[in-house]
Amino acid sequence: MHEFSIAEALAAQVLAHAPAGARVRGIEIVVGALRGLEPDALRTCWDAVTFGTPMAGSTLEVDLRPWSIRCSSCGREWSSPVPFVACLCGNSTPAPVGGDELDLVAITVDEGGT
Ligand SMILES: [Zn+2]
Repeated sequence: MHEFSIAEALAAQVLAHAPAGARVRGIEIVVGALRGLEPDALRTCWDAVTFGTPMAGSTLEVDLRPWSIRCSSCGREWSSPVPFVACLCGNSTPAPVGGDELDLVAITVDEGGT
């Protein structure tokens, strides 16, 4: 259940950034392809982790990034939905780079009060 520990880490990060007393409506994260995350599984974990907190019922927006590929022969870089593809220059083994991002990019809150 690696989604669960990710949801827990995210919740801690959101709590640290959200203004005190504010109700969190939604968060948005960017996730690299290397993470192999299941957005639906992550949302289920998010609901469980945030239950009973100021983040309960908030939406989790997951922006899955494609692979970044870099060719060692010609230096070309591009993004791809799959990690292993041939380059236009004929090199059949360009390497995926990065892909391990997991960034909290936005938090939407309702300020406290009526
Ligand atoms: Zn190339």
